[in-house]
Amino acid sequence: MAKKSKVCDLLVDTVLPDLQDIWYRSKKSGRETGITMCYAPKSRRVRVTNLCQGDECSIDIPAPDCLSREVRASVHTHPNMGLAQQSIDDIKVGLHDNLRFMCSIANDTGAMLCIEGHDKVPSHVGARTTLRELNQGYDQLYDDLEYLEEKEGDTGVDRSYEEQAYLVLHQFLDRHPELSSCRVRVPERRRRR
Ligand SMILES: [Zn+2]
Repeated sequence: MAKKSKVCDLLVDTVLPDLQDIWYRSKKSGRETGITMCYAPKSRRVRVTNLCQGDECSIDIPAPDCLSREVRASVHTHPNMGLAQQSIDDIKVGLHDNLRFMCSIANDTGAMLCIEGHDKVPSHVGARTTLRELNQGYDQLYDDLEYLEEKEGDTGVDRSYEEQAYLVLHQFLDRHPELSSCRVRVPERRRRR
């Protein structure tokens, strides 16, 4: 079983307005929106360092400059997606930038998924092999989804799709004991009266 990360609760506890802000901006613009953060694991202090916007399907978040006791992390949104699936590219970037954790928020539902790396950073060779497996898992999932849509129409597909995507990701994470993950729904921002 893949380990459960605590960063979902940490982010909701400490930087909820920032999460709501990028989610709101992204829904309005239809573009990926993200924040980079510096995180001090000992004090559990999170510092938002940068906000940026990408195009509809990709974002290039500059790696933040953090203090020596801090580690890097980022969150970005996925427009037009009901599920907080981490794309292959997300995980690659996460490995490349040596992020401690990386999260994505699905615009449709506000579902946030985080993957956290622990002490041992996976070697790029091993990671590449398993990333290919993850890719194949997602491909299979897309095929299944098309079949499901043909058979049953749109209803109920989104929810089961999210569960299945998470399952595929979990199988990937099971082979990476140095990674953990968590999921949470980001609550909607309260309207000002
Ligand atoms: Zn992404």
